[in-house]
Amino acid sequence: VAALAEWVDGWARPGGIPVVGAAELGGWTPGPRTQRIIRPTPVVNLDARTDYGRIHHRTPACVLEPRTEAELAACVRRLAEARVPFAVRGAGNSSGGQVLSEGGVVIATRRLRGVVADDPAGERIQVRGGTLWSEVMRHLGPQGRRPPVLIGNQLTSVGGTLSSGGVGGTSLLHGMQIACVTGLTLVLPTGDTVEVGPDDDLFRYTLGGAGQLGIVARAELATVRRPPDFLVRLCAWATVRDFVEAAIRIRETERFEVFAGRFVHDTPERVAYIQGRVGVFCDGSRGAPVPAGAQLWDQPIPDEDAAPEPARETLSPSLLLFLPLPDGIPVWDAVVEELRGTGVMGYMATSSPVGVLRRDGRFPVAPFPASDDCLFFGIRPEVPPAELERVMAVLRGIAARVLDAGGKLELTSTVRPQGEALDRQLGAAAGRFRALKAQVDPHGLLNPGLLS
Ligand SMILES: Cc1cc2nc3c(=O)[nH]c(=O)nc-3n(C[C@H](O)[C@H](O)[C@H](O)COP(=O)(O)OP(=O)(O)OC[C@H]3O[C@@H](n4cnc5c(N)ncnc54)[C@H](O)[C@@H]3O)c2cc1C
Repeated sequence: VAALAEWVDGWARPGGIPVVGAAELGGWTPGPRTQRIIRPTPVVNLDARTDYGRIHHRTPACVLEPRTEAELAACVRRLAEARVPFAVRGAGNSSGGQVLSEGGVVIATRRLRGVVADDPAGERIQVRGGTLWSEVMRHLGPQGRRPPVLIGNQLTSVGGTLSSGGVGGTSLLHGMQIACVTGLTLVLPTGDTVEVGPDDDLFRYTLGGAGQLGIVARAELATVRRPPDFLVRLCAWATVRDFVEAAIRIRETERFEVFAGRFVHDTPERVAYIQGRVGVFCDGSRGAPVPAGAQLWDQPIPDEDAAPEPARETLSPSLLLFLPLPDGIPVWDAVVEELRGTGVMGYMATSSPVGVLRRDGRFPVAPFPASDDCLFFGIRPEVPPAELERVMAVLRGIAARVLDAGGKLELTSTVRPQGEALDRQLGAAAGRFRALKAQVDPHGLLNPGLLS
């Protein structure tokens, strides 16, 4: 480890590339884990030894923090020539150790940020891969613009989200965030840089592909003109079947761009139900009267600097699953029953994200089941350390059940499919994905562990 760190130091520091050694990582820790936060505020996790889940702790030999595409390419080229594997870290919201490395090298994109080009008339923007969505919004918001779909947690990086898919409050009509991408600049695991577009397999298999084929150095995104907030009506459905039917009917009207569902868990006083916020964009700052029965739902842009990493006693496994429709509805019921029966629901916030999504065949490795529509569900318990093994066993069981039913798992989840399970998740796309990986990364250096 020391020799690796010394070797990296030997070329990175003289080249002016920021590099953080293992000993310096301690400076990033938040302090004693004393503050108990049941529903943690999303934050930018700067401690490269952990991720959002905090289940895995791995200390890398060093963390490279390139600031430009040229520095990024130079780092990757050096590592490739020496056959050194490396993990790529965005904002670290994954929860299964995907962005960690024990004794190896991490490339963090936290300095590879900013808007590269903006074309308001053409409704396109180019940003660097490490840019947070909050920064994208801080640039676009004042112009009355935004991407058609924005992930709920804006303190995530563009490259990280595009590697996982990205669902948000407008996904019912507009799909995953990957559908807003019009071009990518990728640094391949060799250090070569390529520009790819929607007709390239590298483009289609990178989006939703867990950072296996290249590092997103820059992304070109479509934008739309919209006011910043939502005007919504609160709706409630007793069953998931009713929710799904309503969602599809609402989508068919094409009148409501906003559709955000929450599964509200049962308590001794209340039976479970699904709540939906259905509505349109509006500008809350104009002070117009809110129509009866509607609510203003403001969408503030989070400030990454004002959100320090909170110390938490709990661990945060996370599973985002996608079930085929309509066949997955009994699976949903079984999953909810399992969360209830095992007491895992007791560790979850009072509600969990749920929604309906149309399959987008342009993205072969994104987590769309084979059905035309699917149902997604985010399971994010806050677990006391003593309970972790038991909760993980429940989540692994749920993941297997979902895959058996033709469902898919988001690959930044704590439980992610590997080996034969990954082949089942990828279906017909597995062969091409593995072939592309072998072609661009023959030594399995980039984000090892999933395909290599
Ligand atoms: C509290 C919370 C709320 C969430 N809400 C949502 C939500 O509303 N919708 C939703 O879809 N998801 C949601 N997620 C899932 C999460 O947002 C995604 O995992 C996230 O987008 C990852 O972004 P990141 O920058 O944190 O990526 P990281 O965790 O840093 O990385 C994720 C993956 O992408 C790879 N990667 C990172 N940067 C690059 C790059 N530049 N090029 C290539 N590969 C790269 C990493 O190697 C890793 O495999 C949520 C997660 C949490 C913890």
